[in-house]
Amino acid sequence: MNGRKARQRAAEHRRKVESALKEIRAAQPRLVAQNDDVEMWHRGPAVLVVPVLRDDYPPELKAAVQTRRRASLELECPCGVEVRVTEGGQAAVRHAVDCPASDEVLSRLAAEAGQEVRRVDG
Ligand SMILES: [Zn+2]
Repeated sequence: MNGRKARQRAAEHRRKVESALKEIRAAQPRLVAQNDDVEMWHRGPAVLVVPVLRDDYPPELKAAVQTRRRASLELECPCGVEVRVTEGGQAAVRHAVDCPASDEVLSRLAAEAGQEVRRVDG
């Protein structure tokens, strides 16, 4: 692939991502399924999978899971998440490493609490 084609492809992908994000943000999240560990939400064209908030979590873990859920559903977080949209329209957020909702911190808090928190939304 030459440079111009690569740039065209990248620009096209960026346009698709931007239009998908616009559609996602314009829609309201709607809970479509859940089990003990995770909930599945639809928001516009996106499927969002978030960890279930359990009553028996200690406060720090509960707060982290809450932040994670809010960020996943709203695609926003105080840490300034990076939102990625795949070719298939799947949206995922990546938190700053020191954010309580990041993979790293959430895993550590869960381990300390002897709990397992399923993180499936990237
Ligand atoms: Zn965050």
